[in-house]
Amino acid sequence: MQYYSTRNKNEFVNFASAALCGLAPDGGLYVPQEIPVYPAHVRSSFGTMDFRDIAFETIKPYVKDEINDSALSDIIQSSFAFNAPVVPVMDRFCVELFHGPTAAFKDFGARFMARAFSYLRRSEDRPLRILVATSGDTGGAVADGFFGVPGIFVTVLYPKGRVTPLQEKQIAGLGKNISALAVEGSFDDCQRLVKSALADNELKKQMSLSSANSINISRLIPQAVYYASAAGKMHSGLNDPDGDATPRKKKLEQSIKSYAGMPVTLCVPSGNFGNLTAGLYAMKMGAPIHQFIAATNINKTVPDFLESGEYNPRFSQATISNAMDVGAPSNFERMSAHFSLDEMRRIILGVYVNDMETQETIIHIAEKSGYFLDPHSAVGWKGVDKLTAENKIKEGVTGILNTAHPAKFMEVVKPLAGPPPVPEALARAMERTVNTKIIPADISVLIDFLKEHN
Ligand SMILES: *Cc1c(COP(=O)(O)O)cnc(C)c1O
Repeated sequence: MQYYSTRNKNEFVNFASAALCGLAPDGGLYVPQEIPVYPAHVRSSFGTMDFRDIAFETIKPYVKDEINDSALSDIIQSSFAFNAPVVPVMDRFCVELFHGPTAAFKDFGARFMARAFSYLRRSEDRPLRILVATSGDTGGAVADGFFGVPGIFVTVLYPKGRVTPLQEKQIAGLGKNISALAVEGSFDDCQRLVKSALADNELKKQMSLSSANSINISRLIPQAVYYASAAGKMHSGLNDPDGDATPRKKKLEQSIKSYAGMPVTLCVPSGNFGNLTAGLYAMKMGAPIHQFIAATNINKTVPDFLESGEYNPRFSQATISNAMDVGAPSNFERMSAHFSLDEMRRIILGVYVNDMETQETIIHIAEKSGYFLDPHSAVGWKGVDKLTAENKIKEGVTGILNTAHPAKFMEVVKPLAGPPPVPEALARAMERTVNTKIIPADISVLIDFLKEHN
């Protein structure tokens, strides 16, 4: 597969270059030359295939010729050592994407990327420095994914005081090849610093640099996997029973009618729009998804765009769903490379939800169903309610992508709904000590730091 930059359709690179570069040299984002299509026998068996087999079928066309089947299979087995269960909650499904080590969906992309990098650089001597800007969850997932990977150093930039104590421990508590910078500014500032450093030619002469944000194509592609798996199950009339790690205090009655063969709508709580873009890829590949809902908090740049047709990026505003506090979503450029405004309007319904509505939803769903939603998933849940009230969702079956485990946002969830159960991986992370360096949102300070630590 060849990849081109969203800003230049005439030059192509292979998967390894696109992945290891992160951002294209012209400042654009890499996209595949074409979106491949699943073979018919795969499309008809998503519902019953093992998650790792779906992963293999999904990722293979994007990396073939560069990662052989047996290496890809190994990478997948160790990246996806957990599942994405589809759990019925009241009148819809929760697609639980939080069973990885940092309890958020970004584990899928980050773990695959770390292992793919390590494989693609297997004959390189020069160490690689990865820069990551995070609004909360990316940093922890990337740090965890790369922790201890030989020859790779990771520097995570996060907005000081705007991530939870647990997120900070996941980002800045590992040490070894992972360093953390608390930036005096917003997530957009962190993102800008990373983009400037990656575009700095002087710096690039001195060290091998890459990024690991959702702009990185190697993080995006593996995220298409759970869309095919979840939509496949829902479309086949299947679902998963509650397991040990289901965040539920008691199980109450369900009210889902028979849904086999019905159109599937998936609601994606969105910030930087990497997750939704991966969903669009899965749909184009042939996963049985009828439509998407892009649910944001008050950082509603994309819902506004879908309504008005005008794209107005803006500064981000802090909310209780902080991993979605993005005013200028990077992946919008990638979405626009593949889809026109009209196409986007046909496939995606936009909606936004404020903090008050998010809190009410967490309370209400815990009372009604015993199920704990984290603030991001609650934005998704409420978004579905709002669009349902406006009669905008096609009749069928609806799933919310539950992007994080509620215990990851204990400070928000506990006062509203009582304490959710804490997964073991989070309990362990809580024990770590934070080791971070505070820096101003100033590119020269970041560059000095990188040179010192080269
Ligand atoms: C990152 C994140 C999001 C937003 O995902 P994007 O791909 O940036 O749109 C939503 N919820 C949680 C919990 C996240 O960590």
